[in-house]
Amino acid sequence: MFDLKRLVRKNIRNLKPYSSARSEFVGMAEVFLDANENAFGSPAGNGYNRYPDPRQTEIKQRVAAIKGVDPTQMFVGNGSDEAIDLLFRIFCEPGRDEAVICPPTYGMYRVSADINDVNVREIPLTTEFQLDVPAILSGISEWTKLIFICSPNNPTGNLMQRKSVIQIAKNVNGIVVVDEAYIDFASEPSLTKELGNLPNLVILQTFSKAWGMAGLRVGLAFASPEIIDLMNCVKPPYNVSGIAQQAVVDALDDQKRVEQWIESALQQRTFLAATLRRFDFVETIYRSDANFILVKVSDADALYHFLLEEKVVVRNRNNVELCGGCLRTTVGTPEENRRLIEALESWCKSRIDSE
Ligand SMILES: *Cc1c(COP(=O)(O)O)cnc(C)c1O
Repeated sequence: MFDLKRLVRKNIRNLKPYSSARSEFVGMAEVFLDANENAFGSPAGNGYNRYPDPRQTEIKQRVAAIKGVDPTQMFVGNGSDEAIDLLFRIFCEPGRDEAVICPPTYGMYRVSADINDVNVREIPLTTEFQLDVPAILSGISEWTKLIFICSPNNPTGNLMQRKSVIQIAKNVNGIVVVDEAYIDFASEPSLTKELGNLPNLVILQTFSKAWGMAGLRVGLAFASPEIIDLMNCVKPPYNVSGIAQQAVVDALDDQKRVEQWIESALQQRTFLAATLRRFDFVETIYRSDANFILVKVSDADALYHFLLEEKVVVRNRNNVELCGGCLRTTVGTPEENRRLIEALESWCKSRIDSE
């Protein structure tokens, strides 16, 4: 039933991709005169005069082993943002095709759709912040090429039910994109295990969150080798810099430390949720499978501005669908969380004083 060729835009189906010097040559050589680099050196440091590996071979080998996938099922991009944009450019004909998003969710899906002139169909989450499967299945059309599911979801923090995601993927012809930016903090494993069963599944992950490399811009996509091939053909040849590639490879040796940080973040998340519960202006603390907590408070805008005056920045989600009255706070270090709690205590005090 699933026909990848039929989903791909005609211009992409017919694309003859750019062939870079470094992707044409395979094997061992000693003298590289193929890429017009500065042969003498680089003021930035040893090796930076050379173009980086366009296929990110080392990252793929290492990460594929960790994640239990094949390197051919893996795309490495300049942040997840690049993967999101590539999916639009590969699958969505501007001005004709559509994408489905399930608000409240991550803002980049719509921005990327708008940039690519792709119509967005919004099918909101239920009041429990879960996927409305019947609404999604009846809301898609023959022009729906991409369905974005964020799990754990930003800004609500919860995982989507696995069976809902699988049910959607099995019953649509489009590509189901599951954004797992926060999966390292979650109580359930990644959906990568389902890749073999679901040819239309694309899973996004990133080095920006648990792995602590937001500044390097490295994102990942996992999908069938056929979808990954398309992404590799459409991406700019040298989309991930040499510095970023080397830093990721080095960081993979430090997995233990990352796991300890995740453990600390989870402890702080529990502590923060328990502490927030004690404030009378806190109405709801939503269950989180991520490194942030969504909190419903009695006067979100005023509290948000008060916190800014106290030099503590959280994310105001008051004007977001289904998130009225909500602020989203990242789980910080113990010291940062203490600053947040002190500021909230001052807020209580200032309200009592003004009564
Ligand atoms: C932070 C975040 C990302 C990360 O994007 P990068 O471009 O990889 O930094 C992706 N998806 C969601 C939902 C996020 O919150």
